[in-house]
Amino acid sequence: MKPPPFEYHRPTTLDETLALLVRHGSEARVLAGGQSLLPMMKLRLARPAVLVDLNRVHELAYVRADDGALAFGAMARLSELESETIRARHPMLAAAAPHIGHRAIRHRGTICGSLAHADPAAELPVLALALDAELRVASPSGERTVAAQNFFVTYFTTSLGSGEVLREARFPLPPPGSGWSFKELARRHGDYALASVATLLDVGVDGTITRARVVLGSVADRALRSLDAEATLVGHAGTPTVFEAAAAAAAARLDPPTDVHGSGAYRREIARVLVERSLLEAWSRAQHLTPSFGGAPMRPGEGGRYTPC
Ligand code: FAD
Repeated sequence: MKPPPFEYHRPTTLDETLALLVRHGSEARVLAGGQSLLPMMKLRLARPAVLVDLNRVHELAYVRADDGALAFGAMARLSELESETIRARHPMLAAAAPHIGHRAIRHRGTICGSLAHADPAAELPVLALALDAELRVASPSGERTVAAQNFFVTYFTTSLGSGEVLREARFPLPPPGSGWSFKELARRHGDYALASVATLLDVGVDGTITRARVVLGSVADRALRSLDAEATLVGHAGTPTVFEAAAAAAAARLDPPTDVHGSGAYRREIARVLVERSLLEAWSRAQHLTPSFGGAPMRPGEGGRYTPC
């Protein structure tokens, strides 16, 4: 199926892009990898009159290790997440990447495009919330930085205004010693998740959890942080009983949508099981790095070890 007719612009600088967006106002949409926008146009779910293509804006095609974070420019492709560099510096991002669609989609789709698209079933918003990502937004009047927790509004909606471009997503490296995990269940590999979970645990030298992040995807209108689960974890040692309680707390308030892929009750149960498994995995990674557990120090690049930039 072909999309409806549209005017097409291919700027080569960010300034030119922003000027085009101002000129065309709400009629215009940014085109990045096109892996969501073009199918939506073909299905008549989106009908922008003007497309402003970012693919020639080379100043936005970068990945930088920068001040304790990884910064992805608007044209950094999803496939970058699987590079050796990201694998070594930020294994959580690398571990989640293969769950995003298929290899061909990841070669074309962009990290910022996935965040801007704000599909509640997408993996990147879950990672962005778990890792306290910062989103740099450009407009003709300047730049602003939005914390991930203030970026996602509801289904396919962010706090981006008309004429704004998400120019960079910055994912901080978790503190050394953090344990991490990303898990999801999909009907087939490459399908959107029925539920996904990202967890992070910081563990003190006495084995107490000092900070926890539990974020769920595909169970609401946007990625959700479970403050109840986090409160159940902080201040306790990581035991199967505590993880079971945290998983139950995470699931208790969920009211996931029912669709052709499964009922809301089924998704809630999947979410509960994934949170529990994810916490066990995050804990096993964290404790290797905590001296009081006597774990041997891991070599750089081994699972769970973060190499500072
Ligand atoms: P585009 O399609 O170009 O744009 C998407 C939207 O974001 C548009 O509204 C566009 O205007 C806006 N936008 C893009 N970039 C910016 C920017 N820098 N600033 C402001 N607005 C911007 N995704 C998953 O997360 N998980 C999956 O399992 C998954 N499976 C898929 C399976 C298939 C078969 C397909 C076709 C896609 C799948 N996707 C999946 C979607 C894919 O990851 C997309 O690439 C991604 O959602 C959007 O990135 P994009 O660069 O292609 O954005």
